Formats: sequence, structure tokens, C-alpha cells
Amino acid sequence: MEKNFSLFLKEAQNKGSLKYFTNFDLSSVCSAGTGGSAVFFITPYTVSSLTETVKSANCCGIKYRVIGNASNILFPDQGFDGAIISSKKINTVRVNINSETGKKEIYAECGVMLPVLSKLALKNSLYGFAGLTSIPATVGGALITNAGAFGDEISDTLTSFTVYLPERDKTEERTPASYPFSYRNSNAAEGGAIILSALFSPNTANMVEIREKMLQNTEKRKATQPFGVKSVGSFFKKPDYITVNKNVSSEFYGKSAGEIIEICGLKGKTIGGASVSKKHAGFLINSGNATTSDFLLLAENVKRIVFEKTGIILIEECIKIN
Ligand SMILES: Cc1cc2nc3c(=O)[nH]c(=O)nc-3n(C[C@H](O)[C@H](O)[C@H](O)COP(=O)(O)OP(=O)(O)OC[C@H]3O[C@@H](n4cnc5c(N)ncnc54)[C@H](O)[C@@H]3O)c2cc1C
Repeated sequence: MEKNFSLFLKEAQNKGSLKYFTNFDLSSVCSAGTGGSAVFFITPYTVSSLTETVKSANCCGIKYRVIGNASNILFPDQGFDGAIISSKKINTVRVNINSETGKKEIYAECGVMLPVLSKLALKNSLYGFAGLTSIPATVGGALITNAGAFGDEISDTLTSFTVYLPERDKTEERTPASYPFSYRNSNAAEGGAIILSALFSPNTANMVEIREKMLQNTEKRKATQPFGVKSVGSFFKKPDYITVNKNVSSEFYGKSAGEIIEICGLKGKTIGGASVSKKHAGFLINSGNATTSDFLLLAENVKRIVFEKTGIILIEECIKIN
């Protein structure tokens, strides 16, 4: 079966519809710099090449995972026994005029990076992307995690998105109303769907104000978060004080994961090569030759200590790939 899949990949690469590698070092693409090797690492160039690759993996019984910029995932140290399919080269993005409303809208394929999207929005005086400007995510990944910062979330201006359903070999258009988004969570991938593209209908605003907001956000990020360091961003979500941690004492209630971890005295705590950032305690960083196991062990320790000291249950934002 692996032979058939290899054959498919060879032919597709020869036709120029994708590029692939075997025995690929995943730590080279993971933003935390960890993980073993994948049997196959594939970068399709088009949406149809992506769906064909997934279809072929399915037919050949090859385990696979579609990823974006790998900025929110940890790969296993022992490697991935299958195909990692990266959407990063599928990156057409354009501004259309909606024929009914006359309003500008943005069409973006799954591999478009959020900084590119927000710059295009700025150029067109479109509002709602300024907070997303420094998030190192693709549109596909951002839709899965409902990425956001500084008051903007990717789902705020989203009107529809197209997915591929591998089990039914079918593409489908979805709306946020039917597949709701919430804080760092979404139902976009329900039924094992793969995000192919998205359509955004933002409002217009003054370009100078949008640029100012983008600059302020970038400055805030630089001042408060570790920069140029390997990490997956905030490792934990802001605690849920409505349903999970509602009986927590007022001393801690409402605080972010970073603030809680700092109060617990965990800044700088290190296990192996993974540490709690001294600049922002919500970030677990690769301070040396960290492994995924170091990150997971550190995260477990942080969760345990936080729970013992505050009663708060922290939930991971970062996704572990199996
Ligand atoms: C320095 C740094 C700063 C960060 N700051 C922020 C921030 O301010 N706000 C924030 O929300 N996040 C932040 N993050 C986290 C991260 O960027 C987001 O979670 C982002 O949405 C992940 O996008 P990605 O393209 O890297 O997805 P990946 O990490 O590659 O994948 C995330 C998940 O989505 C799935 N996936 C990816 N693409 C597709 C697709 N096309 N179809 C189906 N499934 C798919 C993957 O299988 C995985 O389960 C930060 C990360 C770093 C490293």
C-alpha cells in the first residue's frame, strides 16, 4: 500500500502538482522545534492536489494529517508513521466585489498566512484583521483554532468556508452559523473536514486607523511576549471561569493562564529543554534541545502545581499530534 502511495506521489510530483519528502524531520517545521520524522511530508500546490493526496492516502490506507504552519502543534518524538500534508503552498488570496452587496470581500485559500491576509485587508481599508497581523498561522489552521488576539478573531468577518470531506469524497460549503466558532475553538472540521478556503466580508474603515492598530498590536506583542524563540505561542487557553472554574477565589478569578502561572511562581521552570518563559508565563519555550516529551511533561507539571495552588484547571491550546 505504501508502494502505491509512493507511486501516486512520484507521478504527482512529476506533473508539478506537489512536492514530497520521505523520512522528513518534523522539528524543522514545528514552531517549537520538536518532533521526530514523518514517513512522508507533502506540500500540494493546489486545492485539488490536496484533495487528491488525501484521497490517495485514504485509498492506500496511509495515516495522514493536514497541517498549516505547525505553530500550534507538537509532533511525537518517535515520529509520525504516515503522511504529514502541509497546506502552506496553497495560498491564493484576492479581493472580490460581491455582486449583490457591492461590498469588498476576501477569498483566501487554506495556506494563506494571517500576516499576508491582514496586509491585504489594510491595503483595501478592510477592518477586522489588525489583531491577527502577527499570528504565525495559515487560514486553515486559524479556522480550526479560531485564532485571535487583541480583540479580533478569524471568525469575526468569516461568511463561509469550503471543506473537503474525505470519507464522502465531497466538497461542501459551510457557514459559521451552522458550524459555530467559540474562544480558541471551532466546529469547522466537524466530520473530519479539511479546510480548503474561506470567504471574509469585512467592513471598511479608515486605513490610517487600521495601520495604527496593527502597529500598536505588533509593538504590544514584542514588549510582552517572547520573540524569535521557539514555542507554540500560548500553551494554555484562558481559563474558563463560567463553567469549569466558577468556584475559584476572587484572587485568581478572571486572570489569564499566563498571569496564574506567574502568580504560582513558575516563570523559568524548566524540564529538559523546555521552560516557562520568563517574559510571559503563558508561553512554554524551547530553551535548548527540547523534545516534545519535555514540553508535555512541563505542561503537566504546570497544570498540577496551578491546580494545587489555585484550584484552576488549565486546558491546553496546543494540539498534540498522535
Ligand atoms: C509565536 C506564536 C504566537 C502565537 N500567537 C497567537 C495568538 O496571538 N493568537 C492565537 O490564537 N494563536 C496564536 N498562536 C498559535 C497558532 O498560531 C494558532 O493556533 C494558529 O491558528 C495555528 O495555525 P497553523 O496554520 O500553524 O495550524 P497548525 O498548527 O499547523 O495546525 C493546527 C490544527 O489545525 C489543523 N489544520 C491545519 N490546517 C488545516 C486544514 N486546512 N484543514 C483541517 N485541519 C487543519 C491541524 O491538523 C491541527 O490540528 C501563536 C503561535 C506562535 C508560535
